[in-house]
Amino acid sequence: MGKKSSESADKKQQVKKVEIRKVIKQKKRKRKVRKVIDVFAAIVVFGCFAAAVGYPLVNDMVSVNHLTGEEPIGDVRTTDVSGEDAVEPTEETSVNNYEIITVDNDDVFKGCMILVNENYPFKNGNDADIVTLYDEKNESYSVSGMEIGLQSEAVEPLNNMLNAFYEETGHNDILIVAGFRTLEQQQALYDEDLERTGLDTSTLVALPGHSEHESGYALDFSLFFDDGTSGDYDGTGDYEWIDEHCADYGYILRYPSDKTEITKIQYESWHYRYVGKPHAYYIMQKGICYEEYMEEIKNYSADSPFEIVDSDGEAYAVYYVPAETEKSVTYVPLISDKPYTISGNNSDGFIVTIDLKEKRELVSYTTPAEDITGITTDEYGNVVTNSKDDTMGITTDEYGDVVKNDDEDSGSFETTTVPAVG
Ligand SMILES: [Zn+2]
Repeated sequence: MGKKSSESADKKQQVKKVEIRKVIKQKKRKRKVRKVIDVFAAIVVFGCFAAAVGYPLVNDMVSVNHLTGEEPIGDVRTTDVSGEDAVEPTEETSVNNYEIITVDNDDVFKGCMILVNENYPFKNGNDADIVTLYDEKNESYSVSGMEIGLQSEAVEPLNNMLNAFYEETGHNDILIVAGFRTLEQQQALYDEDLERTGLDTSTLVALPGHSEHESGYALDFSLFFDDGTSGDYDGTGDYEWIDEHCADYGYILRYPSDKTEITKIQYESWHYRYVGKPHAYYIMQKGICYEEYMEEIKNYSADSPFEIVDSDGEAYAVYYVPAETEKSVTYVPLISDKPYTISGNNSDGFIVTIDLKEKRELVSYTTPAEDITGITTDEYGNVVTNSKDDTMGITTDEYGDVVKNDDEDSGSFETTTVPAVG
């Protein structure tokens, strides 16, 4: 999301002539209608005053045209979810304030917003954008091995976050012990656990294909101190800073203590997931889990987008576009000519995020304190603390079985045998 990719240059931007012709026809028709409306308005509403005030109003309204038609009604371009996201506005888009791009339906399974869990397996086996964290990291943290990988777009935000944490607290002892995992590695961890327990299924390791680590957007933290000792990362004390600020860098605490019934994963103080900035901010402020957010976002369409104002007062428009079921591509309407990103949701559609490049008053998305447990907020609505003391235990389901934990590695991390790298 938002990354500059040289691949996009290779993507053929095929303009469909037939559709373009339709588009031109529709535009001509629209312009006629608009002219009639404009003339009518000019006559009826106080002559000069209407011409001065009414016309710009009518023009502005074009940006909220209904976009429910079968055929695209804007400029048609072909792109890829992982491709170059920022659109160079053309004369046409600046007149209409939007265009339509076509997205391959396979891209439903790609992008930083994909929801991977028990119900939605990770399907996109393409690891082309995974980079080695050891090569990309800064000095503010360590990695447990040179093989720890992460999606490239999530690296700079991570570096910035841990650098800010270091500057704020003086701690450079965060150790990243897990990142990207291949299906084979997940399978190996799973098999290992079965062997260890002698059981048929694992209650500790996520089923291969269903671990968020396979997406390359998830990380596990541990601690490694200067004196060579180590500790578990529990997100308390100085480390609370991370939960308070991770959303500013597009990261969320993926498995919060009060959402285990939805995530089906026990509270994991050490597992962070990159989803992009405005989304992370809303999720962390509202105190919801990612499953809930991805459900909520489906209520917003291009016709009525969701506006999120982030911690800097930057406004974003967010909406869901269901994937076409009858075709191999989906027409994704853009409601603005501003920079945008598109990510699949890993099941049935796409999430469009448009950076409106507009400043707003800060908005508090925090749910009233009585509605949730364990989250405290300050006067700006920022999450101050998560109460964690009651959540360190294993979570069990209604049968008393241990709810599965996908973070076996953080438990098996051995300080004596796994030295910090970098
Ligand atoms: Zn994890």
